[in-house]
Amino acid sequence: MGATMVPIDLLRERRVQLPRPRAVELSDLPGLEPNLSGVELVAMLDRLFLVYHAWPRPDRTDEPTGVAVVEFQRCLYFSGGGPNDEALHNHPAAPYGIQSYRAWEITNSPEIRKLGDLVHKDGSKRLRSFMRGVRHFVFAFKEDAFDCFAFGYHLHGLYGSRKEALQRISEALERPDPWPEPPVDPWACLEERVPKVPCPVPECDAGAVRFSVFCREHHIENGAEAVRRGRETTSGD
Ligand SMILES: [Zn+2]
Repeated sequence: MGATMVPIDLLRERRVQLPRPRAVELSDLPGLEPNLSGVELVAMLDRLFLVYHAWPRPDRTDEPTGVAVVEFQRCLYFSGGGPNDEALHNHPAAPYGIQSYRAWEITNSPEIRKLGDLVHKDGSKRLRSFMRGVRHFVFAFKEDAFDCFAFGYHLHGLYGSRKEALQRISEALERPDPWPEPPVDPWACLEERVPKVPCPVPECDAGAVRFSVFCREHHIENGAEAVRRGRETTSGD
């Protein structure tokens, strides 16, 4: 019996699909004021707070108004001054379904890989431990869009005025941040094979990890997808 070939060519032929990016509304955060609002930030040392006027979304008219304070967990990168509501179609996440005056997470955002290329000395060829778990958030204000790449967010509260909100931020800075522990990496055991075996996913330059045909990143993504499909099959029966 000849040895069975590793199904890398098959995977290549079938063009392994990566999960598609998608805009998911952060429905646990208040809506964004639709007439004047823009991004206001307070950044101190390694902590980043977003301050904005909260406004009920058209479909959630019972939502309270006020000045919202949202803190981001270990923000790696942020940008303000993005397109306003009339130009939101120019935002890189527009094809994934973002809408104005709401807060979004872009799941499977390709911008995270670009950020890896930008900020890491080796680029994102291997999604380094510091990038794993990074999430891409977009706040689509009236006057501009705010993008933030961080590990999570926390709504500190809704306050009666900007002054009060700023006071609460200064009090929050006196306390430890709400995320005392860095995120645990459950995949730390996945080491790249030596010598290098290329990952079969198109345009991926990374090497496969031990016990898998995929690189670390695609091994994790495909594993999650397989579990999801398995669940759907089981629940559909
Ligand atoms: Zn790969």
